[in-house]
Amino acid sequence: MEMNINTFEQLHNECISRNKAIYEIAQENMASSADISVDEVRAFTNRSLFAMKEAIQTGMASRELSMSGMCGQDCHRVQRRFETVPAIFGKTFEKIIEYALATSEENIRMGKIVACPTAGSCGILPATLTAVSEDFNYSEREQINALITAGEIGRIISVKVALAGAVAGCQAECGTASAMSAAAICQLRGGNVSQILNASALALKNLLGLTCDPVAGLVEVPCVKRNPFLAIHSITAVELALSGVESKIPIDEVIDAMEQTGALMSPTLKESSQAGLATTKTALEVQKRVFG
Ligand code: SF4
Repeated sequence: MEMNINTFEQLHNECISRNKAIYEIAQENMASSADISVDEVRAFTNRSLFAMKEAIQTGMASRELSMSGMCGQDCHRVQRRFETVPAIFGKTFEKIIEYALATSEENIRMGKIVACPTAGSCGILPATLTAVSEDFNYSEREQINALITAGEIGRIISVKVALAGAVAGCQAECGTASAMSAAAICQLRGGNVSQILNASALALKNLLGLTCDPVAGLVEVPCVKRNPFLAIHSITAVELALSGVESKIPIDEVIDAMEQTGALMSPTLKESSQAGLATTKTALEVQKRVFG
């Protein structure tokens, strides 16, 4: 029977009282609400996982620019550098940056991506999930568990805050994606329920107030490069949470703060391109060049 779980406190209590992981509760609920089996939920999730990896591969191989010409070749630049100069933080760090750029650049080419939770933030979760799974040999079953965990985090956040830059700024898009990524990787790395929720809280809390000010109204600048930044950010949250560092503000209250911050944010900074980066001299020149 489907359980009505709308807060992280409810989710935490359900997991503890039934001695289950977040993904177990989430997959049961999804199966029940869609009137399908848990196996079908997991098969669907696996298709999303496959599509994420496809987007990474396609994006890694392409150098096609976006219509505006602003984005499309940064993944290639990074790959070229890492072929000869290793990144300071090692191979997994390199992959996370490459995969996040590859997916985001695929999005601005109008290629197929998995919106997780949105198209503008589509590179964050696939990059960390794929890179960490490859380098630490996590099985397909473990990756599906992680992706379902991430999905549950995004679902509960969306109960209170619409996951759209136009409603609550980029904190709701890339912030949520980073919280989902933190949950997925914490699940992979053996975190318990409290650690997973704590990792999400730490990731999100440190992105509150992030505005949405896309240049020329296109999901390109700052969106594409924001993805690798916040993918790495989510890994920091995981390492802190697994070390026992706690967010003093519980995740439900972080969501409340995000909702309030979004409501207080000027509409000029919520996807309308009327302030911030979108009204810089260079941005206005780009807008004129692209749209006349
Ligand atoms: S800046 Fe705005 S359009 Fe770009 S990813 Fe963030 S919320 Fe989406």
